[in-house]
Amino acid sequence: MTKVALITGASRGIGRATALLLARQGYAVGVNYQTNEAAAQQVVNQVLAAGGRALALQADIAQENEVVAMFSRLDAELGTLCALVNNAGILFQQTSIEHMSAERINRVLATNVTGSFLCCREAVKRMALRHGGQGGAIVNVSSGAARLGSPGEYVDYAASKGAQDTLTTGLAIEVAAQGIRVNSVRPGAIYTEMHASGGEPERVERVKSLLPMQRGGQPEEIAQAIAWLLSDAASYVTGSFIDAGGGR
Ligand code: NAD
Repeated sequence: MTKVALITGASRGIGRATALLLARQGYAVGVNYQTNEAAAQQVVNQVLAAGGRALALQADIAQENEVVAMFSRLDAELGTLCALVNNAGILFQQTSIEHMSAERINRVLATNVTGSFLCCREAVKRMALRHGGQGGAIVNVSSGAARLGSPGEYVDYAASKGAQDTLTTGLAIEVAAQGIRVNSVRPGAIYTEMHASGGEPERVERVKSLLPMQRGGQPEEIAQAIAWLLSDAASYVTGSFIDAGGGR
């Protein structure tokens, strides 16, 4: 039976690299996107061209009804979910707390925290042994910022990733006996478009010399850690964190 994975925010960056790697490993992949249908379809086409199975799935993960509809479509068109990657995340223009509106803070939390919770909830409903499921694995894509903070830059983002880490730890315990493993990858400075939305497209270039490995990371290097945590090779690993940040 084909393994089915859902990757949120998979039209670009780390999500895209993860969807392509999982497809190469034989998963049928749900490629979630919020707005850029053409980019998501390009990922799907790349998988199909290589003989795999993939489906573009539109949903704003912060909207409960859209998440529920996305999982229903995945059930109907790809099959039984066994892997969820909570990758979608947002980062706004760097600023200090004096300039953070409630609207901004709530938007960050709605996507990075509530969105991850909602997708975990729908995945657990399908994977848990008590619901007749076959078990499965969830990987939350957090951030080194959850551990290190980012003073004067985006403490709202760092706090949202801290909350996501607590979700990983708590849910791992809650669903371990249900056959579900929950882990996290915390990337460091990775070359993606996220830094442009944070107002500093060249951020990786600025910070790389501060890292022990003296370089930024590629999305594919994060995808490898995610894929390992989803795989049977990590069968005794739950509630764990892989810090993929070049040594920091
Ligand atoms: P990215 O901006 O390229 O990708 C994020 C994706 O999430 C985008 O495709 C975006 O459309 C999608 N998304 C945002 N809000 C969404 C919503 N409400 N519903 C559905 N999709 C939504 O950035 P990336 O670097 O690939 O980020 C992937 C993950 O890695 C994020 O969770 C980010 O916080 C985390 N991360 C990235 C870095 C880095 O240096 N790039 C470092 C640490 C953590």
